[in-house]
Amino acid sequence: MRRSEDWDVVIVGAGPAGLSAALVLGRARRRVLICDKGTPRNWASRQMHGFITRDGIDPREFRALAHEELARYDQVERRSATVVGVRPLAGGLGFKVKFARGSEVRSRKLLLATGVLDRLPQVPGIEKLFGTSVFQCPYCHGWEFRDRAVAVYGHGKRGFEMARAMTAWTADIVLCTDGERLTAGAQRQLQRNGIQVRTAAISKLEARSGRLKRIVFHDGDALAREALFFDTPSSEQSALSRVIGCDYGDDGGVKCGQYSSTSVPGVYAAGNITRDVQLAIVAAAEGTRAAFGINRALTREDFATRLRSPAASTRESASRPGAGRKR
Ligand SMILES: Cc1cc2nc3c(=O)[nH]c(=O)nc-3n(C[C@H](O)[C@H](O)[C@H](O)COP(=O)(O)OP(=O)(O)OC[C@H]3O[C@@H](n4cnc5c(N)ncnc54)[C@H](O)[C@@H]3O)c2cc1C
Repeated sequence: MRRSEDWDVVIVGAGPAGLSAALVLGRARRRVLICDKGTPRNWASRQMHGFITRDGIDPREFRALAHEELARYDQVERRSATVVGVRPLAGGLGFKVKFARGSEVRSRKLLLATGVLDRLPQVPGIEKLFGTSVFQCPYCHGWEFRDRAVAVYGHGKRGFEMARAMTAWTADIVLCTDGERLTAGAQRQLQRNGIQVRTAAISKLEARSGRLKRIVFHDGDALAREALFFDTPSSEQSALSRVIGCDYGDDGGVKCGQYSSTSVPGVYAAGNITRDVQLAIVAAAEGTRAAFGINRALTREDFATRLRSPAASTRESASRPGAGRKR
């Protein structure tokens, strides 16, 4: 393996979590390889909200700005590549990271920032409206539909909770359960909060000018709505954390300890895969925390190594300013 394919940190996933981590690690003079397969969770969105100083930015522009900032740090390299395997090296010396095209690199630490993808409800017409008038997150797009006629899609507790959440933005809410009955208690609580319930199975969504216009039911009825907010389970984008053997929490997220470290030594996790608050700025903050933890661990390891071989360290420091700092 070429020396240039030895990295301090490989980051898998270049969403807000991975990009923020790369910035902090680059500024800490770490050799960072950040890889991405080009499938961000917000692929359908044209406006990202709630990220202070970037409210309403097109996610593609957000990524482009992040790439520009990372380009200032010559020890950070971005690569369009899918990571398909990770193998620990003997003696806790790091990992071999394997790419879909067969090549491998070595890394001392690994950050998983691989995100999740939404499973859209099985309703004809929904996919082309996702990101414009069909959404999975009221914090991201609720403001744009404040005081407007919205529908909520979700089964059982999920539908109930999304309908309750939407009351922060509008009073005109219809919960569509798509064929599922609600308990009498849930129905009563929703009604007392002014939330209507439709249990009929949904036949399709109809659009006008690329935006939701009506929800059509199998019983022939139709409901005019300007937006639909759904709550369905999302899926991890990558099996890497499971393959490596990371522990999971009860909420289904990769379990993290101090500074985003996972249960596998040397592996860190950040962003939506931890199943914390699923907003871009939180993912970015988790990436920053992981970067802090990774750099702290690397610095301490190097410090301890130099203590064990003081002569070598002194020789190296004398011959090259700053040398010995990384390994
Ligand atoms: C329609 C929509 C609108 C949204 N709007 C907002 C909003 O307005 N405001 C907000 O705060 N949040 C919004 N979100 C949520 C936001 O997109 C997520 O919180 C954020 O993207 C999570 O960042 P992340 O870095 O964890 O994951 P992601 O952004 O999903 O990035 C993960 C990356 O990892 C890559 N990857 C996965 N596996 C591999 C692998 N094996 N090898 C290489 N690369 C891999 C993927 O290609 C992907 O690019 C929205 C989401 C959706 C679906």
